[in-house]
Amino acid sequence: MKYDYLVVGSGLFGAVCAQKLKEAGKSVLVIDKRPNIAGNVYTEKQEGIHVHKYGAHIFHTNNKEVWEYVNRFSEFNRFTNSPVANYKGELYSLPFNMYTFNKMWGVVTPEEAAAKIAEQRKEITGEPKNLEEQAISLVGRDIYEKLIKGYTEKQWGRDCKELPAFIIKRLPVRLTFDNNYFNALYQGIPVGGYTKLVEQMLSGIEVQLNTDYLEQKEELDAMAENVIYTGPIDAYFDYQLGYLQYRSVRFENETLDQPNFQGNAAVNYTDRETPWTRIIEHKWFEFGKDEEGNDIPKTIISKEYSSEWKFGDEPYYPVNDEENTALYQKYKALADKEEKVLFGGRLAEYKYYDMDMVIESALNLCKQIIK
Ligand code: FAD
Ligand code: UDP
Repeated sequence: MKYDYLVVGSGLFGAVCAQKLKEAGKSVLVIDKRPNIAGNVYTEKQEGIHVHKYGAHIFHTNNKEVWEYVNRFSEFNRFTNSPVANYKGELYSLPFNMYTFNKMWGVVTPEEAAAKIAEQRKEITGEPKNLEEQAISLVGRDIYEKLIKGYTEKQWGRDCKELPAFIIKRLPVRLTFDNNYFNALYQGIPVGGYTKLVEQMLSGIEVQLNTDYLEQKEELDAMAENVIYTGPIDAYFDYQLGYLQYRSVRFENETLDQPNFQGNAAVNYTDRETPWTRIIEHKWFEFGKDEEGNDIPKTIISKEYSSEWKFGDEPYYPVNDEENTALYQKYKALADKEEKVLFGGRLAEYKYYDMDMVIESALNLCKQIIK
């Protein structure tokens, strides 16, 4: 066989595995069906701005090993995510913090804010059963109605009562004037873009783009002793048990002849009426400067529209409800029986993974397989 490992997918999971395996002296071929590397973290330079083509990506982690690992391949800037919520023209600070509570209720002290939340939370008794109850129990009904309900229903295309509570638990609630969206020790954007980061990881490794593994599986399998597959798990099994559902996202990108459209990288539109969920203004991930440190006269924005995934669309967010989780478990049982193929990453594990979790998971897999 020509290679020790065939890695299917050049997203972060695939790139980490390929890098680690090569470092351990294994021969590796990476393939991807897309015309570019980096999977969903792919960035493309336009007008001096690194545009996040598959959605805005902010790297954040509490895992020192992961942070040190990515810093081997790129420098990271000091970007801190602080999105603004726009509810029918009213602006609120996110995540939920003292600036938000002050604007919503006029409260000034943390005690007043806590009292307001405690009063509104009373309507939920017992363990929250769904996202609506979880949200009200975390921040009260006013914030739920203005900042959560519309956004979440657009994002997931489902009523908040039908969504699992854990989705909203990701968001911090703080009684301090701290609008850093993430509770993470380390945060930033790779200088020069994510594509460059992945390029560095894959340096010296053979990569074949525009190659769909499932279309030439036999031929490709014959080239390698082992396969690491990071594509959708249901696609691997030819959807024999049915389709796993995803949420997809459509991006409408515009280049504007003005230096500053919204003054922030992300503005979430939290009302139900605005059709997009949020607008990203990519230049603010790099403080509006190009690589030489000059101000950029134009700007590029992306409006994000969330949609139900249908066959042929890019799968973005796994829908982790009971039905899909049960179906995934059945596919997982099939996957466990595949001798030569290991499954990993957001699509193959059907998991709502952040980048750092994907990297950690790939590093763990490599620790197991590299002897
Ligand atoms: P992917 O990046 O999806 O890579 C899989 C690769 O496999 C793709 O390149 C695909 O083309 C290829 N592939 C699939 N099938 C085949 C096949 N049959 N043959 C060949 N190749 C194939 N995480 C954060 O930490 N911070 C964020 O701010 C953040 N924002 C996000 C925003 C959006 C809109 C989305 C959708 C996700 C976001 N994430 C974020 C999560 C992050 O994108 C993922 O954790 C990470 O990119 C997953 O990496 P992966 O390698 O598992 O999957
Ligand atoms: N959310 C919300 N209002 C916002 C931002 C987020 O209600 O302005 C909810 C929404 O349900 C979302 C969840 O919080 O799915 C998690 O948000 P996060 O930004 O972590 O989602 P991501 O886009 O990273 O998956």
